[in-house]
Amino acid sequence: MSSTDKRYATSIDLPTEDVFRNLQNACHFAVDIGGSLVKVAYCSKLHRRTSQVRDHKEDNNCIYQILEEDGYTRRLHFIKFETKYIHQCLDFIRGHLMQSKEFMLDKKNIKATGGGAHKYKDQIIKTLGVQLDKEDEMECLINGSNFLLKNIPDEAFIYQRHGQPEYQFQGIHHDIFPYLLVNIGSGVSFVKVESETKYDRIGGTSTGGGTFWGLGSLLTKAKTFDDLLELAEKGDHKKVDMLVRDIYGGEYSTIGLTGDIIASSFGKAARTDKENVPCYKDEDVARSLLLSISNDIGQLASLYCRLHQLKKIYFGGYFIRGHPLTMHTISFAINFWSKGEIQALFMRHEGYLGAIGAFLKGAEEEDTDRYTWGENFAGCSGLSSSNPLLDSRERSSTFDMLELDKLEKMLQPCSLLLDPKSYLPDTVDLTTDTAAREYWIDCFSNSVDKTRDQAMASQTGPDVKERAETFKQKYLQRLQELHDNPCAYGSLTVRSLLDTSSHCLSDCLFTDPYSQLKQTENEQALKCLPQLLHKLDGLSWEELQLSLAKGLLAGNVFDWGAREVVNIMENQDFGFVEAQDKLQERPWLCDNYEEWHQRLQDKPHKCAVIFVDNSGADIILGVFPFVRGLLKRGTNVILCANSRPSLNDVIYSELLILVKRVAEISPDIQAAYKDGRLMVMDSGQGSPCLDLRLINFELVELMKKQEADLIVIEGMGRAIHTNFDAAFSCESLKVAVIKNRWLANRLGGDMFSVVFKYQKPQKIIAAKS
Ligand code: ADP
Repeated sequence: MSSTDKRYATSIDLPTEDVFRNLQNACHFAVDIGGSLVKVAYCSKLHRRTSQVRDHKEDNNCIYQILEEDGYTRRLHFIKFETKYIHQCLDFIRGHLMQSKEFMLDKKNIKATGGGAHKYKDQIIKTLGVQLDKEDEMECLINGSNFLLKNIPDEAFIYQRHGQPEYQFQGIHHDIFPYLLVNIGSGVSFVKVESETKYDRIGGTSTGGGTFWGLGSLLTKAKTFDDLLELAEKGDHKKVDMLVRDIYGGEYSTIGLTGDIIASSFGKAARTDKENVPCYKDEDVARSLLLSISNDIGQLASLYCRLHQLKKIYFGGYFIRGHPLTMHTISFAINFWSKGEIQALFMRHEGYLGAIGAFLKGAEEEDTDRYTWGENFAGCSGLSSSNPLLDSRERSSTFDMLELDKLEKMLQPCSLLLDPKSYLPDTVDLTTDTAAREYWIDCFSNSVDKTRDQAMASQTGPDVKERAETFKQKYLQRLQELHDNPCAYGSLTVRSLLDTSSHCLSDCLFTDPYSQLKQTENEQALKCLPQLLHKLDGLSWEELQLSLAKGLLAGNVFDWGAREVVNIMENQDFGFVEAQDKLQERPWLCDNYEEWHQRLQDKPHKCAVIFVDNSGADIILGVFPFVRGLLKRGTNVILCANSRPSLNDVIYSELLILVKRVAEISPDIQAAYKDGRLMVMDSGQGSPCLDLRLINFELVELMKKQEADLIVIEGMGRAIHTNFDAAFSCESLKVAVIKNRWLANRLGGDMFSVVFKYQKPQKIIAAKS
């Protein structure tokens, strides 16, 4: 902790400098001042080193130019203070946030919500010298909750102690209404939420987080909230609580009460002989208190649900803190009282609903409809409090980390999904599949040196080595954390492991480590294209179709994300022909080629949407000839590439150039591109995998307009790790070569096994009544 930070020391462990991220570039902020805690949400302007690829003509030759450019994006960060130290919080805001040069340029109005926005209004205006916009607390709370539920895929979860898995993440849904929001702050509010704008505070209780904290302080020696939680964790409430069996001598079976149900919280304490040493400890008292408050809130919540015919409850407020005992008690109570009909859902970032809502109010002028926010895995805290090995200091300091990155696009579910509600992108859940988890965590740990070296080689400068090493350490630490606590950051999947690696790289300013390599490979592949097209043109129809399919597969062998292939590519002269020879012979591991071939004899598709994968041979020698085949049949094609770099995947800005380069070689591509029959779109994604819940809304609009009737998904990340089981309302083709021996074996094949999965439109099967 630096000397500046020490001045703000409170009973909450103040964030270390690591958490005070990018403070010097803070541009605006909002505060939520509650009875117990002040939550500050600040947005910072984030430096990004991006590589821009430019078209560049030289001696009649079109070559690429990669320009390293300084770009900016926005990141949202959160911190908290105890309300009784409000003056220190304001000092901090004045001394840090408002000193930022970016802040100076911005507006001088701040958004404030929570009761303290009223109570401390004059103090805030005087200390900060700003205008205060007081925002309605309920409105902010609801906006924050809707925002998280709609933007952060692994925000909400069901908690089941000893469950397999313990945490069940709910994914992202756009139809979240109606629900009951139970906000457990100092006091408790029950809010019925029917739509974005329609909500009603239907009840409340004064027995909430403040009660636990306050009574706990009176009854035990605990100094802080975290001390109290720690005590509760260790205690035995039966020493203090009067159970059904203490009264009945056993269960009360006629009304369904087992002997260990609490009949009277603290009831047994009255029987203690005060003259002698009490037979209970602080730990027991803290636990009894936590249980009694959580039980009551759970019961009230289920009664309010029943009264208003609601089936889902989301819990917000800082009281819960992802604490397993609290969540278990609340879930148990709701399950008990609703006989399993009502679902209790917790939120990973429950403490910041109001602060997020207030922040969004301030961002409204920036037209929030045009973009989305996504979680930065590199800068977010996990549900680490569930790790009993963490002491309260660690818990407190890690928990405050939550970072959201502004993504340039508004994202929506893909309209071709059969049922967006039941769609889950990932094929394997690593939280439940232990063998797969161990393998993949190990695999990513082992390849971290290669990734670091690639990052280091991609940039020059004095601090490159240090940043690359920081990346390595950070990623390894995350992998270790996930190994110990698989649910810490939401659902654990190959996708989340890959995305965490990209986020850690980008955090260390390596936004596109493969940039140079991608362009070199593109150039090499472009040179081979004329000959390949010529060869294809000489084939019979039958031969051509198989060659196009095999070409698509051979191209997919060139993947710098697959360690075993990288070894081959690095050590041998490995070209498109060699790649074709490596492919598994037919019948392939998943082989629907005959059905595809038959389909091609029928009338052409109206429009094919193709999600592409790698640069170089993959896109140029595999995808483009396949696209040309479709175009020649009279099918329109939308080629979709990632918005942001990941591994050696081709990105949108590169694809825009590539399509022109290919058009110079192929008149068919040229004509189709000119006529608008070949379209290039930005998918809105930045991952080697594909989450079809969150794609560029303009792409969704275009798919609808073009009446897309075929979706082609290419590559291991997009078609195997994700989407292998995805059901579509149109025809689909999932194509990939398996370049990982372990995975191939697991699926019953060997290295370079082929997946060529063609499916007719799927139908929703009505559930049996
Ligand atoms: P409010 O807006 O009323 O302050 P919050 O949602 O911030 O409500 O929740 C405050 C409650 O959170 C406290 O009363 C306490 O029960 C709990 N809490 C969780 N972590 C802490 C902490 N580190 N310090 C104090 N209280 C905490």
